Amino acid sequence: MLDILIIGGGPIGIACGLAAKKAGLSYLIVEKGCLANSLYNYPSTMTFFSTSEKLEIGGIPFVTISNKPVRAEALEYYRRVATSNHMPIKLFEEVTGITKEDNGYTIKTIKATYQAKNVIVSTGFYDIPVNLGIPGEDLPKVKHYYKDPNYYAMQKVVVVGSSNSAIDVALETYRKGAEVTLVIRGNEVSSRVKYWVRPDIINRIKEGSIMAYFNSSLQAIREHDVDIETPDGLITIPNDFVMAMTGYKPNFSFLKKMGIILSEDKFTPQYNPETMESNVPGIYLAGVVVGGMDTHLWFIENSRIHADMIVDDIVAKRS
Ligand SMILES: Cc1cc2nc3c(=O)[nH]c(=O)nc-3n(C[C@H](O)[C@H](O)[C@H](O)COP(=O)(O)OP(=O)(O)OC[C@H]3O[C@@H](n4cnc5c(N)ncnc54)[C@H](O)[C@@H]3O)c2cc1C
Repeated sequence: MLDILIIGGGPIGIACGLAAKKAGLSYLIVEKGCLANSLYNYPSTMTFFSTSEKLEIGGIPFVTISNKPVRAEALEYYRRVATSNHMPIKLFEEVTGITKEDNGYTIKTIKATYQAKNVIVSTGFYDIPVNLGIPGEDLPKVKHYYKDPNYYAMQKVVVVGSSNSAIDVALETYRKGAEVTLVIRGNEVSSRVKYWVRPDIINRIKEGSIMAYFNSSLQAIREHDVDIETPDGLITIPNDFVMAMTGYKPNFSFLKKMGIILSEDKFTPQYNPETMESNVPGIYLAGVVVGGMDTHLWFIENSRIHADMIVDDIVAKRS
C-alpha cells in the first residue's frame, strides 16, 4: 500500500511528489492527460506573470534568460524535474473514484486500482469552463480555450471577459488582423490585468482599434451575428468567433463524490488551512483546487507550499 496517491500531475502534484520523496514516503502521481496537462493546454504564446524562481518547486532552480518564463520553458522545467527525480507518474489515466477502506483508500482509475493510506487531490481548475448560459453557446464557433492568434486573422471576433486571458486574446488576435470587440460586464478593464499589458489594451480601446462595450453582456450567439445588451440597449453585430474567456472552475462533483464538503456560496472545499487536510481524514487538497469559484486567488506561486504542509502532517501523524 502506498503512503500517498497524488491525483493530478500539474506543478503542485509534482511538488507534492518531491516533498513525499524527500520525506521517504512511497507515492504515485496519477494524471489524466499529459504531464502538466493544464500548462500544456495554455495559449502557445503565453508568458507567466510570475518570475521563474516563484514557479520553482522542491527548491530546484528554474533557470530562464528573461525573468518571466514562457509556456515552453515551464513545460521543459516541470518535465525535467519529474524525469531527473525518477518520479513514479502514470499519464493519460483519469481517476474516476475513491472509496474509504479500514486503513486507507482504494483509488479507481480508467486503467487500474490502487491502494493508498492518504490521497492528495491536486486536480486544478482548468478542465471545466464557466459557461455563459446563453442561447448559441454550444455553436462550434464559441471557444473557451485559446491556443494561437493566427487562426483568427481577418475574422470578426467577440471576446467576453476582462481578465488576463480575455485581454491577451483581444490584443493578440487584433495584432494578427482580427476585428475585435470586447464585451465587459464591469465599467473598466480588470485591475488584475498584468500591469504591463493594461495600458496597452486601454490605449487600443481609446484609439478605437479594439471596440469595447462596458457594463454590457452577451445575450445570444448565432451563426453569423451576436446580440449584446449595452447601457444604450440591445445591439446586434456581425460575428465569426466568440472567445468566452469567462474562467474555469474545479470539478466540484468529483470533490463531493469523495465526501468533501463545499461551501454554499463559492463551493470552497472544507479543509484545515494549516495542514490542507480536507474534512475527510487522509484526503488532502493542494493547489488551485482549494479555491472553489475563487480560482484567481491561487497560483503556483502561493500554493506550492501546500506540498510541504501536507507531507509534514502525514509524517507527524505517522510518528
Ligand atoms: C493563462 C494562465 C496564466 C497563468 N499564469 C500564472 C503565473 O504566472 N504564475 C502562477 O503562479 N500561476 C499562474 N497561473 C495559474 C497556475 O497555472 C495554476 O494555479 C496552476 O496550474 C495550479 O497548479 P495545479 O497543479 O494546482 O493545477 P493544474 O496545473 O491545473 O494541474 C492539475 C492536473 O490535474 C489533472 N487532473 C484533473 N482531474 C483529474 C483526474 N480526475 N484524474 C487525474 N488527473 C486529473 C489535470 O489534467 C491537470 O494536469 C496561470 C493560469 C492561467 C490559466
